[in-house]
Amino acid sequence: MIKYLFNLLYPSKAKCSICGRTGSEPVCNVCMASLDYLQGITCFHCGKQLNEKYKHNICPDCITGSFYYERAYSCFEYSGMGKKLIHKLKYEGKVQLAHVIAGLMAKRIENEGLQIDVIVPVPIHEKKLTVRGFNQSYMIASELGERLHKPVTDCLERITETKEQYNLDRSQRFLNIRGAFSVKLSYNNCKYMNILLIDDVYTTGSTVNECSKVLKSAGADRVYVVTAATGSNT
Ligand SMILES: [Zn+2]
Ligand SMILES: [Zn+2]
Repeated sequence: MIKYLFNLLYPSKAKCSICGRTGSEPVCNVCMASLDYLQGITCFHCGKQLNEKYKHNICPDCITGSFYYERAYSCFEYSGMGKKLIHKLKYEGKVQLAHVIAGLMAKRIENEGLQIDVIVPVPIHEKKLTVRGFNQSYMIASELGERLHKPVTDCLERITETKEQYNLDRSQRFLNIRGAFSVKLSYNNCKYMNILLIDDVYTTGSTVNECSKVLKSAGADRVYVVTAATGSNT
């Protein structure tokens, strides 16, 4: 009761989850404007920003690589404010940021005309889930599901605990993540479905590619990927 009266007299001010500025939440306009949004020409396969001087609409990695997913989309660069936003969500538990990211994702894929049956988040290992308390990709997927009016199916599981990917080079990343995922038996119902796979960051695409591989071998028809941010290739 006392707390209620106190809150009535001194309502707690909304704060930006990133910079702490009062007046707006979850993210203030200044922080939103500081994100390096992907714009102009992006690779038509992996969704990364392409240098203006680049003549083709596909990046060198996608020319030489072969991937199991149809196409990936992303919202902003994994640098500066973008990196901060992801870190606040993942490591500081500011789960309200999932709502902001889902909003950007919805906007990003709005005009792509994707035929989606179900949204699937990239899973994290059970041990990590116990420590962190949540899977950021699942949080984003749930918010996106509400916006797109699509079901969210947590059908993938991470069956092996892999090394952290950030200090590995491109080929090491693909090797490291191989065999790390499987489709849960209880969810073996993605046959002929078009799936929208959700992750927070796309760097080399090794993680979403491995997930796409197991989804396709379980019978998925098409797999599209949307991530919040794209990192630079290693
Ligand atoms: Zn802010
Ligand atoms: Zn590409």
